[in-house]
Amino acid sequence: MALLREPLLLLSRSEQLKRLVSTMPVSAGIVSSYVPGETTASVVEATATLVADGLHASLDHLGEDVLDADQADATVAAYKDVLAALSERGLARRAEVSVKLSAIGQALEANGHKIALENARAICRAARNAGTTVTLDMEDHTTTDSTLAILRDLRKDFPETGAVLQSYLHRTEADCRALAYEGSRVRLCKGAYNEPEHVAFQDKADVDKSYVRCLKVLLAGDGYPMVATHDPRMIAIASTLSSRFGREKGTYEFQMLYGIRPEEQKRLARRGETVRVYVPYGAQWFGYLMRRLAERPQNLSFFVKSLISKK
Ligand SMILES: Cc1cc2nc3c(=O)[nH]c(=O)nc-3n(C[C@H](O)[C@H](O)[C@H](O)COP(=O)(O)OP(=O)(O)OC[C@H]3O[C@@H](n4cnc5c(N)ncnc54)[C@H](O)[C@@H]3O)c2cc1C
Repeated sequence: MALLREPLLLLSRSEQLKRLVSTMPVSAGIVSSYVPGETTASVVEATATLVADGLHASLDHLGEDVLDADQADATVAAYKDVLAALSERGLARRAEVSVKLSAIGQALEANGHKIALENARAICRAARNAGTTVTLDMEDHTTTDSTLAILRDLRKDFPETGAVLQSYLHRTEADCRALAYEGSRVRLCKGAYNEPEHVAFQDKADVDKSYVRCLKVLLAGDGYPMVATHDPRMIAIASTLSSRFGREKGTYEFQMLYGIRPEEQKRLARRGETVRVYVPYGAQWFGYLMRRLAERPQNLSFFVKSLISKK
């Protein structure tokens, strides 16, 4: 099954497959288990259900690698819309947004970095007005420096902005040290892209060992670690380390993806942990779904069935 990871990640960038698969409705079996809907109304409804279950949420308007400024503007407008809707429904205290900089202009040839920074600033302002926060997702390694530079700039005005670091990158332990300061919200994940050997660990065991080293740095530090994993071993280690470093519950949080281990999400919340569910929504679900399938090729047969039975 591990052999399927690389081809599936390559397919996640295939325009041909994307065109074929994107005609499938989001309600089709496998898609709806990972993405609750395409509209603001559907994601706000899904968020209300999670909050009623004692969970928190981070909403991601799907879309990445935007190549024109109009599309980037449309993404910013979608975030403003969902933030206003969260505030209206009284959900903003428990629900923030996650933003991919490539969806708001980072990949544009002319001034991509600057445009993404200004767009991110607009979303941070809307989030603050709604009473919540933004976390900047991390994408492939070619964007890491630009994303961390934008984070530094944003934090001058919006220190509550969250960062994401990926334990599969060799550089990440050092990045954790740099970001483990008071008030710094840092999501630690393993990393979801196909990365070359010169920048990333290739063996799962090495990625896991790095994850534990990074957890130690973040939990021993002064920031607010956000432990993003479904891995039972990593969750157990994070719990043990948080006790060892004298952290009270609520000074860190667990995060998981929508539709993955939902019972574990609720179990941790019942134990008094803060648990945030990452909820992707929107029409551009193809790349996201392919990355989830790459992590769990067992689900490939469900995906093919959904594709064959599409109306
Ligand atoms: C909240 C959140 C935000 C994220 N943000 C980013 C980001 O900004 N950038 C980025 O590159 N990546 C991001 N990721 C994805 C992340 O990098 C991993 O690709 C993904 O979480 C899978 O890694 P894992 O830690 O769950 O462990 P894995 O090594 O994939 O899995 C370990 C174990 O977890 C359990 N498990 C995993 N998946 C499932 C499943 N579908 N059903 C049941 N059990 C399962 C199994 O026991 C499995 O053996 C994010 C993940 C989360 C949870």
